[in-house]
Amino acid sequence: MQTLTTIPDLRQACRELGRPLGFVPTMGFLHEGHLSLVRKARRECTSVVVSIFVNPTQFGPNEDLDRYPRDLPRDLGLLQAEGVDLVWTPTPAIMYPEGYQTWVTVEQIAAPLEGAMRPGHFRGVATVVTKLFNAVQPDRAYFGQKDVQQALVIRRLVADLNFPLEVIICPTVREADGLAMSSRNVYLKGQEREAATVLYRALTAAKEAYQNGERNAEQLRQRMQSVLAAEPLAQPQYVSCAKMDDLQEWQGEIEGTALLSLAVFIGQTRLIDNLVIGGEL
Ligand code: AMP
Repeated sequence: MQTLTTIPDLRQACRELGRPLGFVPTMGFLHEGHLSLVRKARRECTSVVVSIFVNPTQFGPNEDLDRYPRDLPRDLGLLQAEGVDLVWTPTPAIMYPEGYQTWVTVEQIAAPLEGAMRPGHFRGVATVVTKLFNAVQPDRAYFGQKDVQQALVIRRLVADLNFPLEVIICPTVREADGLAMSSRNVYLKGQEREAATVLYRALTAAKEAYQNGERNAEQLRQRMQSVLAAEPLAQPQYVSCAKMDDLQEWQGEIEGTALLSLAVFIGQTRLIDNLVIGGEL
């Protein structure tokens, strides 16, 4: 497994890798969710490239950039064991050198939900992913449903900017109690870890209501709110039942595919999760 840092080295190495080339962008501190993407890429592609880059431009000023967990030696060991061909670990100075001033902005699909709560977040994501794609030039790129709006923003970006690659969205990997795996789960202390299961409990309660015939979007949001309200350590930021295609809130009865999603503070830790009902992603 090669580990490279600079863009010229990376470009040269990617040109020499067999096709199709699968690419998994990450911010590191890897867990089974990341590894599920790597394994799918490994099964489907001749070569697999993983990037590890904690992208400063997608963090807000009051977010957790400085304390975001990092463990590069451990990550490299895990990726080596998965048979990854190349790991790219650029630095902020490589990605955003002095004088940097070009940004990629995806509009409507990036506006609600995470986009509304984290101004500038998807501008940072779209910009860094564009730069990663330009450097690696993959045939397929793998993203997790855990960050579903991010995956939809990147699908839009790939279509709109004519990147010759396929975006593949992979299922959310969960702990045994339903908590979606996340690098940020290490922030959860003491009782917060148990409290964090409330996200999945709220989503599954709404999904069960849907399966029992409830079609009113407001009722489904209420169902999630009431589960969240019973958890004293949880502070919900948004609770959404949105149309899958444009992420606008469903009003009245839902007719096609809907995305149930939420962002919740458990103590100081902000967690997100989602489920799709009435169809496929
Ligand atoms: P991150 O390192 O958090 O930027 O995540 C890198 C990629 O892994 C993104 O495409 C995420 O959606 C994906 N990912 C993160 N957590 C999970 C999970 N629990 N299940 C599946 N994919 C995940």
